[in-house]
Amino acid sequence: MQSRLPDINTAFIKYRTECIIAIKNKNWSSAHGCIVSINGLLPEEYVVRVDSIEYNKLNHTEIIYECRRCKQQQGIEKITIYNLIPNGIETLLFSPIAEKVWNCIKCKFINKLTQTVVMKNVMPSPFFYGVIPEAPERRGGLMDRLKFNIEIERWMWLALGESEAKMAKFRDDNWGRGDETGEVNTDLEEKDASN
Ligand SMILES: [Zn+2]
Repeated sequence: MQSRLPDINTAFIKYRTECIIAIKNKNWSSAHGCIVSINGLLPEEYVVRVDSIEYNKLNHTEIIYECRRCKQQQGIEKITIYNLIPNGIETLLFSPIAEKVWNCIKCKFINKLTQTVVMKNVMPSPFFYGVIPEAPERRGGLMDRLKFNIEIERWMWLALGESEAKMAKFRDDNWGRGDETGEVNTDLEEKDASN
């Protein structure tokens, strides 16, 4: 059982190398097979989950507008932007061009879009979620094939990156840090023996 972790690591390095070659050669089925194999090496809790809904939820960047008067911060999905046409006097003083505005949900102040402070709410872990979306599917047509190649390549790198992060975590959790002999955590052996 002592040899199990180095074996997994060796297999991982092999699949990772093959995966990168396959991506570069646009051999998507081979690259996909390598990613599946990497995940197959790892215990269930380290496997990258495939869930588009969950991924989009995690990857969502919220855009927030701040009210100029009360400083209330509000997500753009909660507000409505509309055109405000200046009244008679303003039209005489300024050019009668409609301005994009929105009403604060708290104090109802009419905020001009051009003067609004915009913020992005970045998720706490922007790099690895442990979840990836479903792989893009190829449909018909030449344009779709070009678009597909871009999308699938992006997906492959995403999937490989997430798999590598899980592999690194698996190594850290089970392989003594800085231990040259590669001594393994016996928890894994016990888990294995019980299978
Ligand atoms: Zn306000």
